[in-house]
Amino acid sequence: MVKKYFLLQLVLLVLLSSSKNIRAQNQLDSILPVRGFAIAAPPPSYVDSFVTFIEKELAPRHVNTLILRVDYNYQYNSHPELRNAIALSTADVKKIVSACRNNKIRVIPQINLLGHQSWAGKTENLLAKYPEFDETPEVKMPEVYKWPNADSLYCKSYCPLHPKVHGVVFALVDEICDVFEADAFHAGMDEVFYLGSDKCPRCKGKDKAKLFADEVTLIRDHLAGSKRELWIWGDRLLDGWATGIGMWEASHNNTHAAIDMIPKDVMICDWHYERADKTAVYFAMKGFNVATCPWRNPAVSVSQLKDMIAFRYESTKVMKPRFRGMIQTVWSGPSPFITGFYQNAKDPKTGDNTPWNSFRQLFDEINKMK
Ligand SMILES: [Zn+2]
Repeated sequence: MVKKYFLLQLVLLVLLSSSKNIRAQNQLDSILPVRGFAIAAPPPSYVDSFVTFIEKELAPRHVNTLILRVDYNYQYNSHPELRNAIALSTADVKKIVSACRNNKIRVIPQINLLGHQSWAGKTENLLAKYPEFDETPEVKMPEVYKWPNADSLYCKSYCPLHPKVHGVVFALVDEICDVFEADAFHAGMDEVFYLGSDKCPRCKGKDKAKLFADEVTLIRDHLAGSKRELWIWGDRLLDGWATGIGMWEASHNNTHAAIDMIPKDVMICDWHYERADKTAVYFAMKGFNVATCPWRNPAVSVSQLKDMIAFRYESTKVMKPRFRGMIQTVWSGPSPFITGFYQNAKDPKTGDNTPWNSFRQLFDEINKMK
């Protein structure tokens, strides 16, 4: 009898705490619909640790969106030649998908399209296997990468007008969205410096804003065919000269006019790391859904959160729902991040300004609102 009573109490306690949790979730959803976290997908050997991190750290903080940079870290069947040597299996991916589903986290896989086709001295798999897609084949990869350099090489791009490039990349996009059971895809598309090269026989002389917009639209239309949303980073749509935001977080290569040429249902991930730039307002006024994305400065992240809340509170009924929320970005793989997070490690250069401190403080503030 005592045992039965104890069990009943336990069941009631679980029900009560889960309904409390659902109430908190619902309340947060109305204050800040997107509470995101963006990071590289783990290597196969780290999947279990990553799943534990989802369950123990992301879910209790009410993170509800996980953007995972997969790129070539999956055993693609459509193009096995593009797999990394060590890459996630379907079973690995399903472990992540199931952890996210159980915790009501929307997973959005990412493959960098258009730009970021190389990193430092390394050409990424697409251009390594299909060099004919390279927008600037005349630019040779350096032995030792340095910035700045004579070629203004930051990252390689593929040529958006190459007749065969989309046949390859869309096969990867479809496959990764299917395996992640995703209703949205993140195409990256940030920091595209090589675009419309004067030496590219197809792109030469073309309007760079139009080239960028056409590529965004093509990807968006492809995804719409399977009822999926396109998410991109917002920097190419901002005028780096007029705003003083510069060539990284905004555009110095004449792509910003693309903001008036792309479909309004593309979700903008508006990243700013040094200041709480108010560019979310600009995107929302142009009709886009937007989330603000901080990195490693906790004070800036919290300030951006306050702005996002204020934008939602102070906007018209039409604009308010476009201010979607916040996404913590992490530019390492999960292992260094999670290690730094648990060790409360300082960065040798930036001290306490670390992505894990930003994540902790941002989500502490978010969770105070429920
Ligand atoms: Zn081209």
